[in-house]
Amino acid sequence: MISFLDLKLINNQYRDTLIEAATRVIDSGWYMQGTEVHAFEEEFAAWCGTEHCIGVANGLDALTLTLKAWKELGRLKEGDEVIVPANTYIASILAITENRLKPVLVEPDETTYNLCPEKTATAINSNTKAILAVHLYGQIAPMPDIMALAKTHNLLVLEDSAQAHGAATKGKKAGNWGDASGFSFYPGKNLGALGDAGAVTTNDPELAKTIRALGNYGSHKKYENLYQGVNSRLDEIQAALLRVKLYYLDAETQRRREIALAYAQGIENPVIIQPIGRDANLASVQNHAFHLYVVRTGTRDALQQHLLNAGVQTMIHYPIPPHLQQAYSDWNTHSYPVTEDIHQQVLSLPISPVMTDEQVQKVIESCNDFPVPNR
Ligand SMILES: *Cc1c(COP(=O)(O)O)cnc(C)c1O
Repeated sequence: MISFLDLKLINNQYRDTLIEAATRVIDSGWYMQGTEVHAFEEEFAAWCGTEHCIGVANGLDALTLTLKAWKELGRLKEGDEVIVPANTYIASILAITENRLKPVLVEPDETTYNLCPEKTATAINSNTKAILAVHLYGQIAPMPDIMALAKTHNLLVLEDSAQAHGAATKGKKAGNWGDASGFSFYPGKNLGALGDAGAVTTNDPELAKTIRALGNYGSHKKYENLYQGVNSRLDEIQAALLRVKLYYLDAETQRRREIALAYAQGIENPVIIQPIGRDANLASVQNHAFHLYVVRTGTRDALQQHLLNAGVQTMIHYPIPPHLQQAYSDWNTHSYPVTEDIHQQVLSLPISPVMTDEQVQKVIESCNDFPVPNR
């Protein structure tokens, strides 16, 4: 069986170095807010090209704390509208509602699965105060256009970069386009810790300072609490492990891109719609970190079963859109047809830096021998 994502194999590549890093922390006797977190924050900010990076407990907190900080700084207030793609992972929306802000769901572009500038523009009104741009599946959203829109309407932009470490457009990486960006280092993400971890990147020193305080009980200074904060910090041990994995991230992303290009060129089944064209090349896919390789087909469940029978494990990202979740029952009667089609048709093929060329070929062949259904 070709597994969808073999985390054990991924981390086993760096086993000795990871053990050394963990040992360094264990032996230091210092487990929170020490030299490893500080070093990782500097290294990750430098890698993204931003001035600041603040380590937090997970990706959801990275988004939630950024919005909360903007409220503390008087840049947002309860009830303000935040534009967000309707087909995102639920965490983007939870960050908004947790802050008592109002998510305004916007249909995505049906080929990129990301926000499109035109539909975003039509959703803007006098209550709109921010755009949460999600780089879904690893492909960067159209940030130059989104930033221009935000500038015109005086909106804050928060990037959800949880799936897009290293995706770039116009030479600038995800995490360095918006006013701030949330990253997740959940084990299955492109830069994955061995537990929960996350970070915010920003070029705004005041925001950085506020997020740092909010994640530490609202305290800038020990035992003095400026805000009603929370406990959301990155551990020393996870930071030490992330530093090891950051070192290899560019090479891993390169491998993901090579696999994506092999799929794009090798899969010829007319019922399978691919995320990139056959003529794509390494230069043209720098906007995509290929966290996921998501294809689309009208006969998704049959394709998934066919691949499973052939020994290829696939996943669905995601089976139920946020507006049809019970958690948001007020929206269950709303209709977002593009989003609903996407959720019924998408299938994620295995893609990971440890896949061999033989496994990639096997996935391609198994896709190509999926019988085109009679209609
Ligand atoms: C994973 C993910 C998050 C949340 O990150 P956690 O670390 O799991 O909290 C947020 N947004 C998107 C798009 C994600 O994929």
